[in-house]
Amino acid sequence: MSSFQSKISLNHISKSYDNMKILKDITLHVNEGELISIVGPSGSGKSTIFNIITKLTNIDGGEVDISGKVSYMYQKDMMVPWKKVIDNIAIPLVLKGIKKSEARREVEKYIETFGLKGFEYKYPTQLSGGMKQRANFLKTFLTSNEIMLLDEPFGALDSITRKNLQKWLIDLKQKMNSTILFITHDIDEAILISDRVYVITEKPAVIKGEIKIQLPECGENEVSLCKEYIDLKRSLIKLLEN
Ligand code: ADP
Ligand code: MG
Repeated sequence: MSSFQSKISLNHISKSYDNMKILKDITLHVNEGELISIVGPSGSGKSTIFNIITKLTNIDGGEVDISGKVSYMYQKDMMVPWKKVIDNIAIPLVLKGIKKSEARREVEKYIETFGLKGFEYKYPTQLSGGMKQRANFLKTFLTSNEIMLLDEPFGALDSITRKNLQKWLIDLKQKMNSTILFITHDIDEAILISDRVYVITEKPAVIKGEIKIQLPECGENEVSLCKEYIDLKRSLIKLLEN
């Protein structure tokens, strides 16, 4: 479970593009081993927060403190179409200077866990949407599994595939001790997968609220039908609305 060492710490971050204020005052913390979601409307500055954490974008004010190696799965992550799936996933290892054959062996270790067995030597176009995202996720994981930034990784998937991947991510998270910051605009997704959720407003974005997720065992019922779940959802909707 989570200890209290902070892996990502943003304090009073502000950011403008041209003369438009995007982030007004963003303070958020992610502790070791936590899976934290940021929920907010489209165009509110969620991806900008990730670009700031990875130093792709500079800030106008505030402080960023990151302790550990960060990997980043982009909102529109893509595989190189002419490389086999296994070699796509191995790209970060090859970039580190590891030989192709050795990199492939390293990738092989995770193929089953990431639900890609039998598809290693196929090309990206032969994968389903869910598999593509698991492959992109494994590539990110091999870049660094210490701190992972996932920008709407399930955003383009149909709802059934999406539900399956959410369950799969929850399982995987229990096996690894990664710290994950996850962007979504899907409230249900945020409640299902997260330890805590930050809600941000339309731009200029501020943190509207922070909600700790504790879901009880729900017996026979699907968790989303439990009272506690519905209460959490109501609080999140309220935060997003006003
Ligand atoms: P989100 O991920 O929440 O949908 P983004 O962080 O991508 O939002 O964008 C927030 C706002 O900042 C948008 O209005 C977008 O047009 C603007 N923006 C993002 N990146 C740039 C950039 N490089 N130059 C100018 N404006 C940008
Ligand atoms: Mg975005």
